Formats: sequence, structure tokens, C-alpha cells
Amino acid sequence: MENKRRKIHEELEVVQEGFANGVAEGFPLSLQEKSDMIEDATIAFGQFLDALRCDWRNDPNSMETPRRIAKKYVNEQWAGRYNSPPAITSFPSDSYDGLITECNIPLTSMCSHHHETILGRVHISYIPSEEGRVIGLSKLNRLVEYFGRRGAIQEQLTMAIHQAVDKVCISNQGVAIQIVASHQCVSCRGTNHQGASMVTTKLSGNYFTKPEVRNEFFDAIKSSHMLK
Ligand SMILES: [Zn+2]
Repeated sequence: MENKRRKIHEELEVVQEGFANGVAEGFPLSLQEKSDMIEDATIAFGQFLDALRCDWRNDPNSMETPRRIAKKYVNEQWAGRYNSPPAITSFPSDSYDGLITECNIPLTSMCSHHHETILGRVHISYIPSEEGRVIGLSKLNRLVEYFGRRGAIQEQLTMAIHQAVDKVCISNQGVAIQIVASHQCVSCRGTNHQGASMVTTKLSGNYFTKPEVRNEFFDAIKSSHMLK
């Protein structure tokens, strides 16, 4: 079991390395490394505000802002870059061989281009291996958090989550990911278009080759609205 867990962890590290904008080296960071990073980023953000001719040092509401921003990036918005991937374990399921779909997983991310917020929902579905081993449901939520909490564009985020689920659901018979999100770089700048949403979908295995399986995934998403 320990070996299997370690293997999954290593596989997720590969996803991390393949994920554009991933950590260049030395992840996960220790507490001391994070603290040093916050110090460096605090100084750098103060210089950024200086360049914008912001008198932040004398404004009571802004004097702590460089440190706030640095902590926010390291501990929250980009936490996925600096922490370990979630530990994933699999369980027997009495040979359940249907679709397993979790809908409406909250997504908070940030676009790499503008560092504006991306807010959305993720729908994840997989068909377990023929022996019917499944992973803990909340692990799907943790994967979304792990890959979402960093700069990304929605297309690559979709691929990273797909790749991760494909790796941790060993010998699966298909994985489907759909992300529906709004981008503040569209709604709060540029065109300033409120209400636009972006939908990305990545299908593999039976979801890709069998239209009836794909439709069952889309029907499961519709069914999830019954709980609202
Ligand atoms: Zn953007």
C-alpha cells in the first residue's frame, strides 16, 4: 500500500513538472523556504509599488500591503506551486464499474497572463478499473485545489487535472473533465464583459470513444442541478 501511495505521489510530481508555470525546482518548499520567499517578495512588491509612484509607506492602508500580497501568493493563491501533491489512496468498491462523477467542485485560480482571478466549477468523472478500485471522493476536490492554486490558463488547467486523475485512477476506463469558469481578465478589464463564461472539456477512454458514455457524463452534470 505504501509503495502504491509513493508511486502515485511520484506520478503527480510528473504532472506538476509538465504543468507550465510549475515550480522550476526544489518543491515542495519547507516552512523556512516559504518564509524566505515571503521576505523577498515583500521587498520586490514594495519596489513594484514604488515604480507605480505609490506612497505606500505613508498610507496606513497600504504600508503592510507588500507583505500581505507576498503572503497571499505563497500561502493561498499560488499554494499549489509550493506544496506537495495530495496523498491519494484507492479503495475496493465491490466491482462497481459505472461512471463516478463529482460535479460543481469550486475552482479558484488565476490567469497567468494578467494575474486576474478565475472563478468556476469543475466536473470530474472517471470509470474505475475492471477490478473496481476507486479513490476517495474528496481527493478530486484536493486535486482541483492543488492545480488551481497557481497561475494557469484554463486550457492547461483542464489538461493538468485530467492527467492527474488519469494517473491516480490506475487502469481506469476513461476520464472526463469539464471546467466552466468566468475570468476577471475579461470581466474587469479589457472588454469589461460581465457574464461571459468559458467551458473546456477533456475526454479520454470510453468518454472519447463511446458517445453514450459521454452523454451520461453530461447528463450527470445536469442531474447535479437537482440539488440546488
Ligand atoms: Zn487573463
